[in-house]
Amino acid sequence: MSEFFADAESSYNEARFVYYGYPFDGTACFRKGASEAPDAIRKNSYNFETYLLELGIDLSDVLANDWGNLDITDDQDKNEKLLEDLVLKIVNEGKFPIGLGGEHSLTPAAVKAAHTKYPNLAVVILDAHLDFRNEYEGNTKSHATVTRRISDIVGIDNVRSIGIRSVSQSEIAEARSVGLKFVESGWTELREYLADVIDDLDGPVYLSLDMDAIDPAFAPGVGTPEPFGMTPYEVIQTINFFADRIVGFDCVEVCPPHDNGNTSALAARLTRHLVGAVWQCQERFK
Ligand code: MN
Ligand code: MN
Repeated sequence: MSEFFADAESSYNEARFVYYGYPFDGTACFRKGASEAPDAIRKNSYNFETYLLELGIDLSDVLANDWGNLDITDDQDKNEKLLEDLVLKIVNEGKFPIGLGGEHSLTPAAVKAAHTKYPNLAVVILDAHLDFRNEYEGNTKSHATVTRRISDIVGIDNVRSIGIRSVSQSEIAEARSVGLKFVESGWTELREYLADVIDDLDGPVYLSLDMDAIDPAFAPGVGTPEPFGMTPYEVIQTINFFADRIVGFDCVEVCPPHDNGNTSALAARLTRHLVGAVWQCQERFK
């Protein structure tokens, strides 16, 4: 790791937000390179003012620490164990984990840890892909099986996917038969959907942002780009809707070798907005 995420200057002990990097892209099937994303996102986080005009929050006032990158190997079980142990430590100490991927296979292990601390945890996933295959290329822990594994952990009723526009025929048939709730990008008034989700799930929420949820016009540098996607404003709207109940977050699937820097910058800026929005709620309700 070359540098910390911008404004993550607190010690681990005093921090309320803890960034960590998961530089893994072992199951990527189209474009490799997500392993470079944690450091690319960190680098681009320095592009921005510490002050967030849209929230009236200055991130230099927020207690945040950057733990660094996990020591990733080719052994996915080992990687997941490291990740789960770290996130468990963070949430058990009352802190907020922020995972910088790496590919989306980060999320199930982070959710598993958060679920230990918050037994009524719900998970909201922003993604172009349903990721609901039981296995992909022989691997049950692939970037294409993420939503399925998360459903195994928190229960299918506690999962909501947003931004969906890519799925296999058998995957969608199975998702429908077991009642997975998801919303296709562009086909629903997002605000109404979010209001329904909030009425439905009143407990803590883990938010996972697969950057390919966003249209490739805004976020071209991802592992598997899909046209007809969400706008960055819709992502901001989603974050704001859940800000008072989000207890963990990750931002995954940025692919720096296919990015001119803007996708990493957008990932960093959305993450900065999330930290500001959650901090603002924590301060208001403490
Ligand atoms: Mn995904
Ligand atoms: Mn995706």
